[in-house]
Amino acid sequence: MTRKKITLLGATGSIGASALDVIARHPERYEVFALTAHRQNDALFDLCHRYRPAYAVTATAEAAMALRAKLMEAAVATEVLHGSEGLTAVAQAPEVDSVLAAIVGAAGLVPTLAAVKAGKQLLLANKEALVMAGQLFMTEVARSGTVLLPIDSEHNAIYQSITRYISNNLSACGVRKIILTASGGPFRTASRKSLESVTPEQACAHPNWSMGRKISVDSATLMNKGLEVIEAHWLFDMPPERIDVVVHPQSVIHSLVEYVDGSTLAQLGNPDMRTPIAYALAYPGRIDAGVKPLDLFEVAQLTFERPDRQRFPCLDLAYQALRAGAAAPAVLNAANEIAVEAFLDRRLPFMRIAAVISSTLDQAAAHEALGIEQVLEVDRQARQIATGMVRRYGA
Ligand code: NAD
Ligand code: MG
Repeated sequence: MTRKKITLLGATGSIGASALDVIARHPERYEVFALTAHRQNDALFDLCHRYRPAYAVTATAEAAMALRAKLMEAAVATEVLHGSEGLTAVAQAPEVDSVLAAIVGAAGLVPTLAAVKAGKQLLLANKEALVMAGQLFMTEVARSGTVLLPIDSEHNAIYQSITRYISNNLSACGVRKIILTASGGPFRTASRKSLESVTPEQACAHPNWSMGRKISVDSATLMNKGLEVIEAHWLFDMPPERIDVVVHPQSVIHSLVEYVDGSTLAQLGNPDMRTPIAYALAYPGRIDAGVKPLDLFEVAQLTFERPDRQRFPCLDLAYQALRAGAAAPAVLNAANEIAVEAFLDRRLPFMRIAAVISSTLDQAAAHEALGIEQVLEVDRQARQIATGMVRRYGA
């Protein structure tokens, strides 16, 4: 069997670690072609030492030089590139079969889109790329014939729960609704008053998942679910009124698909990102992911609640941006990134994250974001407005 060559964008993150864990279990199937990182050069060196990729990509030329020297000393033959050209090069290299997109935030858009344009099979974790440029992204997917496999656990669950016997059109397959499950995050039961003084440490202590800091805060505000509603809209071509959110604190049901005949299909499993990653890596087959099978007796109970839209206004802001269409989701995403960063730096109280996003959506000029240049310009402008809002609402 020829081994599948993989480029892992964002190798030093939480998804990167889970992906490398699955890959390392199947050395006969997968080969790491390239690993990329932003600031964690030591971690990237360790990964190069262990996985011996053909290429590594750092953020800056200085970092690349330092890594090259260390690799040489350790007799590791990995070639080091840097910057956005480096990311694009490893996303598009002719040797590569699949690109796993696990950079966090807007920074992932350009290299992820580059992989799509080159027709690489895309294993997508970087939901922000799709939120920012959904239309453009899906047009390129259709044009290049890329196979797009979602790694976000909810979308992976939906992907697994759709029976495509008839066509790729979900309505034609009898799908009525998509139901995304949300854990509710660390503040599910917190009072509105107590939310005013929560800290970044509390926000990043997720009850069921261990993730990067940005997505952890998104889970705490429910913006993560909002971004996922937009992600589901593009991946499955579903209008917002046919995408529901239900809070399910155990995180065992990863999402559900409701059919017109009264059937509801779902995918269940222990909350471990190695499952959706393994699914995407092996698609259409299945491989061992190192994940414990689900013990229903241990789970014992599955419970469901309506999301509290007053305490967690970010969810509706995302629906609002999706309904507004055009560039609004890109504005939402940019404002959220700025607000989350400010909260993590203790410059903005938790409850003001939504206020920054809402005011930025109000102030940003209406754009019909079409091409990549326009999307990046909308992103830049929205960041500027949101930065001003952080100053206004800041601590
Ligand atoms: P993380 O913060 O742990 O890792 C992010 C990775 O991106 C790191 O390798 C970092 O070096 C790289 N990176 C950061 N900024 C960069 C920049 N400007 N340029 C190039 N590279 C950069 O994040 P994570 O939790 O692994 O999440 C990655 C993506 O996957 C996010 O889009 C997130 O929403 C999505 N996701 C994560 C999980 C999870 O369980 N962690 C689940 C579903 C979806
Ligand atoms: Mg998710």
